[in-house]
Amino acid sequence: MPHSPAATAVALISDIHSNLEALTAVLAHIEAQGIAEIYCLGDVVGYGASPNECLALVRQRCRGTVAGNHDWACVGLTDTERFNPTAALAVHWTQTVLAKEHAQYLSRLPLLLQLESHNALLVHGAPREPQSWQYLYSPDDTMSAFGDFSERICAVGHTHTPFIAERSTEGRMLAHALQVKFTDGARYVVNAGSVGQPRDRDPRASYAIIDSEGIRIERVEYDIAGAQGRILEAGLPEALSSRLASGR
Ligand code: ZN
Repeated sequence: MPHSPAATAVALISDIHSNLEALTAVLAHIEAQGIAEIYCLGDVVGYGASPNECLALVRQRCRGTVAGNHDWACVGLTDTERFNPTAALAVHWTQTVLAKEHAQYLSRLPLLLQLESHNALLVHGAPREPQSWQYLYSPDDTMSAFGDFSERICAVGHTHTPFIAERSTEGRMLAHALQVKFTDGARYVVNAGSVGQPRDRDPRASYAIIDSEGIRIERVEYDIAGAQGRILEAGLPEALSSRLASGR
C-alpha cells in the first residue's frame, strides 16, 4: 500500500481552566474517536479548582500547548490588571496551590505553534501580537485576522465561544457553526471553544477536530456538579461554580 499523504486527525482543546471533570470527559471522547494527537490552545488554569491535576494530564496527553493569558498570569508573566476581580482572585488562588514543576512548565510555553501536518497555526487569542491577547469572538472579527497568518488554518480559543470562519479564494467570508469541509484554496479560522468554562449558553465542553476532510466542533457532556463541588470546596467564588451550569 502506498504511503498516504493525508494527515491524521488532530484534536484541539482550549480553555480548560482547571476543570478536571470537563477535561477527563473530553479526553475520553477524543480517545473514543481513535484520535491520538492532541494540542492545547492555552488557559489550562484559572477559574477552576484542579490546576495541578489538569496540568499533569495536559503535559501527559498533549503534543504541544501554547500559552494563554491565565497561564501567564499564574506565573507572573502577564499582570492581572485587565482581569475582572473574580478572574484575578482565581489567578491568585491558583498561585498558592500550583506545583513548582507545573509553574515552570507554564512559564516556558510558547505563544505560537506551527502544526505543519495540517498547515495550521495555533495561538490562544489572535495571530497578531499574541502576547496582547486579542479576542476573536465571531467570524466577523476574523476578517482582518486572515491577514495576520500565512497558514491555511489558524486555530484559537480565548473567547470560550466556538465557531469556524472560512475565507474563500475570492475573499468572501463564510461562517460555519459546527463543521466545514475543506475547499481548495480556502483558508480557515477555528475557535475551539472552551473545555472547562463554555460561554455560548451551551454548558457542554467544547473542542475541535481537524482531519484531512475538514474541521468540526464537538460538544461533550461532563460531570458539572462535580466540578462545581470542587470550586466551592476550594473556597473560590460561587459565581465560578454557577456559571458552569448555564454555560456563560
Ligand atoms: Zn480562557
